[in-house]
Amino acid sequence: MRGLSVCAVPADSDSMTEPRHLSCRTCGTRESHRPLTVNQKAWLRGKLKELYVEEYCMCAKGTCRNVRTYNTERCWPDPLKIPPGID
Ligand SMILES: [Zn+2]
Repeated sequence: MRGLSVCAVPADSDSMTEPRHLSCRTCGTRESHRPLTVNQKAWLRGKLKELYVEEYCMCAKGTCRNVRTYNTERCWPDPLKIPPGID
């Protein structure tokens, strides 16, 4: 008999597709951040010269569109924003 049943933590596999409240360096507040779309990832890949951009998300407040990773608010010296029209 197993008496010690620790609360199972649900797998985190869906978390990357859900909007998250994160601090935004240009808004100065905690805002909802969206995962990037296919087109936005393609743009970011070209911009950063990086192939792996799954960890990035963007601020969903108004026209902010500031990019960060889920873990790091300031990824670059200057803010990076997804240009309008890339959705
Ligand atoms: Zn923002």
